[in-house]
Amino acid sequence: MKIQEADAKSLLLTQGLPIPDWSVARTPAEARTAAERFFAAGAGSVVIKAQVLVGGRGKAGGVKLAATANEAEAVAERILGLSIKGIPVRKVLVAAAAVIVKEYYLGAILDRASRRIVVMASAEGGVEIEEVARATPEAIHRASAHPLLGLFDYQARELAFAVGLGPHLKSFVRIAKGLVATMKVNDADLVEVNPLAIVRETGPEGPVERLVCLDAKITLDDSALVRHPGLEEMRDLDEEDPADAEARHHDISFIHLDGTIGCMVNGAGLAMTTMDLVKRAGGEPANFLDIGGGAKADRVAAAMRLILADSKVDAILVNIFGGITRGDEVARGLIEARARQSREVPMVVRIVGTNAEEAAHLLRKANFETAASLDEAAEKAVAAARAVATEATSAATPATGGAA
Ligand code: GDP
Ligand code: MN
Repeated sequence: MKIQEADAKSLLLTQGLPIPDWSVARTPAEARTAAERFFAAGAGSVVIKAQVLVGGRGKAGGVKLAATANEAEAVAERILGLSIKGIPVRKVLVAAAAVIVKEYYLGAILDRASRRIVVMASAEGGVEIEEVARATPEAIHRASAHPLLGLFDYQARELAFAVGLGPHLKSFVRIAKGLVATMKVNDADLVEVNPLAIVRETGPEGPVERLVCLDAKITLDDSALVRHPGLEEMRDLDEEDPADAEARHHDISFIHLDGTIGCMVNGAGLAMTTMDLVKRAGGEPANFLDIGGGAKADRVAAAMRLILADSKVDAILVNIFGGITRGDEVARGLIEARARQSREVPMVVRIVGTNAEEAAHLLRKANFETAASLDEAAEKAVAAARAVATEATSAATPATGGAA
C-alpha cells in the first residue's frame, strides 16, 4: 500500500528525522491559510505540492513555489485542478520553501535477492532513481542492513563519504539509520527520500546549512497491515483502484498482470502453479487470483467480476482444489456469475477434491467446458484465448476481394 507524502513524512518524523513543518489543504482557501501561517513564521516563500500516489509530480507541474499568500492560493487552485498521470489532485501539501543548495537521493528497499534491507544513496538527487540506475548505475551506492542489528554507523558513514556528504556526516548517519528503522517499525517495503537536500537557513549567527528530507515516499507491506491498525487509516481511498478495493472487500488476493488468460484459483501455491502451466502451454496469465479457503458462491462471483472487468481477458481458467472449499459451492458460484456476466468469455473449469462429482454434474448441466487435469485445463484455456484473438484480428482486417 502506497501512502501520501504527508503521511510518509509523519512516519519519518516519528523516527526523529529532520523534516520541514507542513500542512495539508483540500481547497485553495485552506492552502492560503496554511501559507499565511508559514509567512508569519518568517518564510520567504512557500512550496505547494500535489498529493497523489505517483512520482514525478515536479515534472508534471504539481510542485510550485509561491511568494505571497495570494499567489499560494492561486497556485493551489491550479494544482488542485490538475490530473497527474491520470489521477486528479484532491489535496496539496503546503510548507515553507527550502532554499536548496544540493539534492541527494536516499532510499531503503527490501531486497529479495539478499533478503535484507538495502540502503541506497546517490549524489544524483531530485531525479527519478530508476533514471539514474539506467544511465549511471555507478552513481548509486549501496549498503545492506543487518537483519537484527540494522544499519551500522560505519556503513552509513561510508555512504556519506561516497556521495560527498562528509560535512554532514552525523546528520546523514542519523537519517540513514532512521530510514531503516522506519522500514522495520512499519513493515515497509520501501522508504525513499528524494530529494534529501542540503538547505540554507538563517540561524541566529547568520546562514547555516543542514540536511533535511524534502520529499518522502513509503510503500507498506499489505500483508503486515494487520499488525498496524494505525497505518490502515493512511489508505487513500480516493486513489484506490476499484478492483483492488473490491478484492480486499471479499478477501480475495488479486494481482493484475498483462496477459489474456484470467485465472481463478484457490490457494497461493496452486495459483502460482496454474500461472506456470498457462505459460508452459504458451499463454500469458492476466492475473494472479486466490479466492482463499472455504470460498462461498458470492466470493466466486466477485472473483469472476474482477477477472471480467479486465478487457484484455480472452479466456478464463478456473482451477479449484476442494478441501475446505467445496467444489459444488464453487460450481454454483460460477453458474450464477455466468448468468449475470456482462460479456461472453470462454471458460475452462477444473474442480477436484471435496464434492468434485456434484460440481461436475452441475457444470455439465450448465454446459461448462471442464477438464480433468490441470495440463488439459491450461491447454484448453490457451487454445480458447488464441481462437478469440484470431477472430478479433480477422474481424479487424477487411476481407480482400470478397463480397461486402
Ligand atoms: P516529485 O517530483 O514527485 O518527486 O516531488 P518532490 O517533492 O521531490 O519535488 C520535486 C522537486 O521540486 C524537488 O526535486 C525540488 O527540486 C523541488 N522542490 C521541492 N520542495 C522544494 C522546496 O521546498 N524548495 C525548493 N526551492 N524546491 C523544492
Ligand atoms: Mn521526489
